[in-house]
Amino acid sequence: MKHRYASDCHSHSDCSFDGRSSMNAMCERALELGLFYYTVSDHCECNEYKYTEYRGTGYHGVVRKAWAQMDQCRKDYPQLRLLRGIELGQPLQNPSAAEDALTGREYDFVIGSLHNVAGEKDFYHLGEEGLSQERIDALLNRYFDEILAMISWGGFDSLAHITYPLRYLSLPGSTPSFAGHMEQVKAIFSELIRGEKALELNTSRLLRQDVPRLPDPELFALYHEMGGRLVTLGADAHCTEDLAQGIDEGMELLKQAGFTEFAVYQNRTPVMLPLE
Ligand SMILES: [Zn+2]
Ligand SMILES: [Zn+2]
Repeated sequence: MKHRYASDCHSHSDCSFDGRSSMNAMCERALELGLFYYTVSDHCECNEYKYTEYRGTGYHGVVRKAWAQMDQCRKDYPQLRLLRGIELGQPLQNPSAAEDALTGREYDFVIGSLHNVAGEKDFYHLGEEGLSQERIDALLNRYFDEILAMISWGGFDSLAHITYPLRYLSLPGSTPSFAGHMEQVKAIFSELIRGEKALELNTSRLLRQDVPRLPDPELFALYHEMGGRLVTLGADAHCTEDLAQGIDEGMELLKQAGFTEFAVYQNRTPVMLPLE
């Protein structure tokens, strides 16, 4: 890693349905890379807590399995600053699942995500349907409304990948942007700032040349200009090869946007580290 404090705060082990590397392998890779802090954050899709179309059994079991493995890895890798996280997807689509997942487990870091709006498929799958601009705008309106409700609920530390829908919904040939929705983006930023929640820079696509560039530089500059100072960085790796991918570039992006520090959460409290 080029930066002394380079840390990856968003990653998945094979406890997640889409994870491909064991937690041990991920920890070993984190050590090899020399990450300053490393956070595991397996999925908990709250709307599929008891049942999931992928595996049938739901995230109830995933949460428990991941917690036990994180506990074990803390003992097995004492030289690694391993933090225990969770990616809570759609918490308000099943608040009792979110509560159950968080109760009795002292997470260091809770990521709040929205992969699908209520009653709709994951944006990942909607992207395959060739939607009209009208339908995209309607989905984005609901996306921003649900995020605002999630911030008022407040049971998370950092808002993950705000540009997630743009990865999949942008029309071919167009540049992904939230044009026409910037007032909603600003409302989200001011609520995050007011609620002392962080904004995550998801670095998973920063180095990829085969996908359109997302408007993260502009969005983070705006968030900083509005007074936002809490930012977290995560490569959202689902296998060892992707761990910390784009983190160094993400740290540079944040510096360009005006930030001097970023946050790593320990015991649900931000530890501020210099972007160096
Ligand atoms: Zn996610
Ligand atoms: Zn993730």
